[in-house]
Amino acid sequence: MILSFVSEIQTQHGLEVLAFPEQPVKELSNLELQVPCIFCDKEFPNTTGKNDAVLHHLLVEHQLVIGDVARVCDLRRYVLIQRY
Ligand SMILES: [Zn+2]
Repeated sequence: MILSFVSEIQTQHGLEVLAFPEQPVKELSNLELQVPCIFCDKEFPNTTGKNDAVLHHLLVEHQLVIGDVARVCDLRRYVLIQRY
């Protein structure tokens, strides 16, 4: 009943059924994405909230301290914005 109604609308208006792929492309979660260094090509695991590795690297290798880093909600995006 519904299918015949749909096909009738399709033929009348030339519409096609909106179909989505069987398996949608998997989006990477924040945790799967690495946090890059602002200055060099090194990357560090994203531990959202406690990015000690990248912060330690920035301090030791590049003498950079990010002030109020606790207020940065997504360090990976923050770093990407600073890079470009
Ligand atoms: Zn670096």
